[in-house]
Amino acid sequence: MVVLAAMSATVLQCRAPESAQPTSSSTATTRSTTTPHATPTSTSPTPAPAVVHPVTVDELGATWRPGCPVGPELLRRVEVNYVGFDGQTHRGELVVHQDVVADVTAIFEQLHRMHYPIAKMHTVADYPGAEDELSMEDNNTSAFNCRLLPSGRGWALHAYGRAIDVNPLINPFIDGGGDIQPKTAGPYLDRNRTDPGILHGGDPAVRTFTDRGWRWGGDWRSPKDYQHFERS
Ligand SMILES: [Zn+2]
Repeated sequence: MVVLAAMSATVLQCRAPESAQPTSSSTATTRSTTTPHATPTSTSPTPAPAVVHPVTVDELGATWRPGCPVGPELLRRVEVNYVGFDGQTHRGELVVHQDVVADVTAIFEQLHRMHYPIAKMHTVADYPGAEDELSMEDNNTSAFNCRLLPSGRGWALHAYGRAIDVNPLINPFIDGGGDIQPKTAGPYLDRNRTDPGILHGGDPAVRTFTDRGWRWGGDWRSPKDYQHFERS
């Protein structure tokens, strides 16, 4: 399993364009010998391509427990680049189902190119009890979390690693009764706001997902889930 996962990561690395002109000398590796095979190094001054890792039960922490609909063997931890609210490139990670790894990699490469800002991107395992409310209040973009639908009827697609919540504090969930998640998102119920990172129908950032067949919760009549994208 580990070998297969490593191979898939290599394939993804090979998809990234190589910087053909080594113009930088200050950060180059000091190794002076030329090798017959071009091995990617981890010291490249250009943003590293997406990398795919297997995940263990330990890494999933409180986001997973026995009885969840998918196990760690079907999940992957994908490292991607994103542009933060500081305008700089950061490295984040999303745990997703293996079936959507290629989509997720392409989507976040495109969001990075268009400079769509993302506040932060940790796995929900980094929050006490993998509590989604804490992740949302922290405006943390995340994917896998073995949890039920807000209605309590059935698993959320997050429990399959097939849904991603983007900038959830400023793109809240609003149910038919007007309850909001996270509960601190009141200022962002006004969807005429145009703060960076707020998602509106037809936005390039939204289309980055929907053009690939992902559904956006902002298109739903009720509940409205502006942070949520899914691919079942
Ligand atoms: Zn969601």
